[in-house]
Amino acid sequence: MDDVVVEASPYARAQNNLATLKLDQMAAALPDYMRMVSGGEMEFVSALAEMTAAEVLARKRRILSQRIRSSGLPCVKTLADFDWSFQPSVPRSRIEGLATLRFIDEAENVLFVGSPGVGKTHLAIALGVEAVRAGREVRFMDCARLVDDLKDAQARGILKKRLKYYAHSKLLIIDELGYLDIGESGADLLFQLISMRYEQRSTIITTNVGIGGWGGVFGDEVAASAIADRVCHHCSMVKITGRSYRLKDLPAEKKREQ
Ligand code: ADP
Ligand code: MG
Repeated sequence: MDDVVVEASPYARAQNNLATLKLDQMAAALPDYMRMVSGGEMEFVSALAEMTAAEVLARKRRILSQRIRSSGLPCVKTLADFDWSFQPSVPRSRIEGLATLRFIDEAENVLFVGSPGVGKTHLAIALGVEAVRAGREVRFMDCARLVDDLKDAQARGILKKRLKYYAHSKLLIIDELGYLDIGESGADLLFQLISMRYEQRSTIITTNVGIGGWGGVFGDEVAASAIADRVCHHCSMVKITGRSYRLKDLPAEKKREQ
């Protein structure tokens, strides 16, 4: 018996090609646009322009979320999500000024100081997201993890390489300095990194410990003041003195217990 070769329909071939090219948006929208074009509601070329525009937008979103993931940002927080009225001590116009990212071009630092839950990490992430959106290379690291990573690199004899890696990012966010004491050896490693970035690259630090208390965190007053000196020169310091957003919905008696 002769083989019967059944030609796939143009629609099936188009869908097949779109699947091969991973153009999922176009594949999903194709039936609707076919209907509009054959009904005379839309010209073919306009349909093509709209379908490809949706695909371009989806690709941009994909690339952005991939870049956010690879920068180590733990999640996406934006200034638009920030409730300014809840935290009036946050200088809104100064933060919006930072969001223009001029501080990155000028290799300036940002220091967010305040007690837990006041929005330090949120604002640092929001600035990081703005920077990623603008195509800058961003690295977000929890302070204790950063120090552990540098200690590990030192033990493996690759400290220089690792320091270079962290020194290179256009924006380094060191989150939660002060939650764990990092000790003298950690302070020395952090000092090396901060020195390499000094006046070359921007660093954002969030901390619950005012600079006066950094001696305790680093286990050494001299190292603490050497680090603070470099961080605070060319720095925008934002002190947040409000309630914890995490506790905002707790009933009053629970808040007192906290
Ligand atoms: P911190 O780093 O100061 O301890 P976070 O930035 O982690 O605090 O804030 C704790 C949680 O509360 C996060 O989920 C954050 O998004 C949210 N949050 C804090 N402040 C605000 C605010 N003013 N508006 C909206 N969300 C906030
Ligand atoms: Mg935090």
